[in-house]
Amino acid sequence: MLIAGCAKAPYTGRNQLIIISQEQELALGHQAARDVLQKEKRDTTSPKAQAVERVGRRIAAVSGRSDFQWEFHTIINDETPNAFCLPGGKVFVYTGLFEYAKNDDQLAAVIGHEVGHAIARHGAERVSTAMAAQTGAAVGMIAISGSDMSPASQQLTMAAMGLGVNVGVILPFSRGQEYEADRIGLILMAKAGYDPRAALDFWQAFAQQPGKKPPEFLSTHPASENRIQSIRGLIPEAMQYYKPQQ
Ligand SMILES: [Zn+2]
Repeated sequence: MLIAGCAKAPYTGRNQLIIISQEQELALGHQAARDVLQKEKRDTTSPKAQAVERVGRRIAAVSGRSDFQWEFHTIINDETPNAFCLPGGKVFVYTGLFEYAKNDDQLAAVIGHEVGHAIARHGAERVSTAMAAQTGAAVGMIAISGSDMSPASQQLTMAAMGLGVNVGVILPFSRGQEYEADRIGLILMAKAGYDPRAALDFWQAFAQQPGKKPPEFLSTHPASENRIQSIRGLIPEAMQYYKPQQ
């Protein structure tokens, strides 16, 4: 029974504590995505938006999660070089990112990273961690009981999910999750036919802009020099998956 709370991240095989169901995770991502789209201005037609859609679809196609309802949105915001992902495959890229992502390969480095967060279920994982911290083992027991939940248990779970919606969107990913998303992202971009070495060019462009913060610009993000080092170390693995398009 306790095993129901465990999951394994793709490609890395890391053990994860995930105590919300896939359905809850998808509902959480869907709701949060609608909230974002209500607040932000979308670009659906420009060459930037077309690039986000084009690259996103190709990476989603090799993600192994055809059950996700993938969405790739471009947000009009030239000030902010940002990108983020919500559970279940809702990816958002700000137009400001194109100052650094100069071609499809470099854009694929960013989108691959975000898709990596999605397929490794990092949102569900951080919500689970927050729920466990807030409410203790009880929530785990309820989540594990799954579809056999009593109405009272369901209510409790929904209350915890309400907490999760807020916390899940606000909480930054851990450094471990960032590293994992980098590793998976490089593999996915390579599988989709994008040169994983372009990720280095992208991060180096960022490092040369003092004061600019990286995508998801959260304080826990690994510093860019460390990140460039770690990405350099991950490239040989990704190159094994790389099949250039003709
Ligand atoms: Zn990230």
